[in-house]
Amino acid sequence: MRIQADVKLLKYRRTKIVATLGPSSNDPETIEGLITAGVNVFRLNMSHGNHESHRQAYGRIRTAADRLGEPIAVMADLCGPKIRVGDFPGGSIDLAAGEPVTVTTREVAGGPGLIPSQYHALNSDVGQGDRILLDDGNLELRVETVSGTEIACRVIAGGVLSNHKGMNLPGVAVSTPSLTETDRVDARFALDLGVDFLALSFVRQASDVVELRELITSKGAEVGIVAKIEKPEALDNIESILDAADAIMVARGDLGVELPPQVVPAAQDQLIDLARVYRKPVIVATQMLESMITHARPTRAEVSDVATAVRSGADAVMLSAETASGQYPLEAVRMMNDVARQTEGYLWRQGAFGGLTRKQEQAPPLSVENALSASMAQLSRDLRVRAIMVISFLQGHSLAVMSASRPAAPIIGICPDHRTARMAGLLWGVIPVTVHGDAMDNPHQMARSTAVSLGMAEEGQSLLLVQGFSIEPKKNTPSVTVVTV
Ligand code: PGA
Ligand code: MN
Repeated sequence: MRIQADVKLLKYRRTKIVATLGPSSNDPETIEGLITAGVNVFRLNMSHGNHESHRQAYGRIRTAADRLGEPIAVMADLCGPKIRVGDFPGGSIDLAAGEPVTVTTREVAGGPGLIPSQYHALNSDVGQGDRILLDDGNLELRVETVSGTEIACRVIAGGVLSNHKGMNLPGVAVSTPSLTETDRVDARFALDLGVDFLALSFVRQASDVVELRELITSKGAEVGIVAKIEKPEALDNIESILDAADAIMVARGDLGVELPPQVVPAAQDQLIDLARVYRKPVIVATQMLESMITHARPTRAEVSDVATAVRSGADAVMLSAETASGQYPLEAVRMMNDVARQTEGYLWRQGAFGGLTRKQEQAPPLSVENALSASMAQLSRDLRVRAIMVISFLQGHSLAVMSASRPAAPIIGICPDHRTARMAGLLWGVIPVTVHGDAMDNPHQMARSTAVSLGMAEEGQSLLLVQGFSIEPKKNTPSVTVVTV
């Protein structure tokens, strides 16, 4: 046997790409370049920049997407209760292992042996023996005593601590809500802009998601909520979080600080499988092509990381600093696109597409959704159909059902408006197209002409037309039709 490493690429990439915008990428030309290179969803990170810079970036994304005719979605990522240290007059201090150091909740400048915490309830949340991790876990303190506002600690792992570095408290029940006052202001701002998704950081339980949902509903808006899974508590409550949210993100940056990094791959794997059971898109995020912040080529390990996420069936992979502040934003997206397509081509050749995961395949009776999703994936393979055409409405329920079994044929999401098409931006394998009003009156004809105009089907070839899934049981009347061009 001969190893055939490169494979025939599929015409369409199935795994979606999320890219974070920032100073390296928020000019109009780069935004167009990123879309052309394959970005499906842009992330505006509310932890950085200000409302003015986000408003400008948002406007530029919409202009570029309209010009290129692409259904590009925008996700505003709310900062959440990210705890940070305050200022040091010299910009940083040195911490040496074994030394004592005091963390204070008073609003003072830091200095040698003194670290100000911007989180003022820290002294009531931590106690003797708790760990305080600084700068993404590079530095570690252990709490010895707490007296009033002063938390006496011992340095376990030392190093340089600079202004505003993050603080993580693994295993400590932090008393601030996941949706902070700042987040509420930012969420209202982002809804006014017209974003398609809001991401909620440091989610611990379903009620965190519900709180954001209430804010969204009270503004009469309809956007998807992405629950960022980056706290151990979220792993304990994952099923109710998946019920409440519209999508999840495996936020490996903070998750790998709150938990030992070696347990993150197993968590990622299970989160992807479980999200598919719930038919909610799952994004794998952080450090995917980290070295491309400063190098034009990724490490081989990073390439494998992207390939692993694709093979495990993630809906989307995300770039953070690589595109926001790195030197090679375009190259990073091109590389991600190339790795995803190559991996998908390989999976295709292996016949890996079009099945339920072990978790989805429970003992009969299966849910109507899972049973039909699997059957349609099988049917599309048996009939060698060119595409699965799915008529979709705003919540994209039919699309999510079809996407869940990862069928071999591309899924064309036929959406009544641009907004619905953008909301499909996170779903694996879905190519959203907007088809206006009257055409929907004759769905068979519309399916034929859409497939032909996309160059997906020729005379004599067949398509599957899927419609009628609804979350409301009485309206759930799914049907599938075989349409020949
Ligand atoms: P962040 O979230 O980039 O907003 O911190 C992602 C992560 O923690 O991985
Ligand atoms: Mn995070």
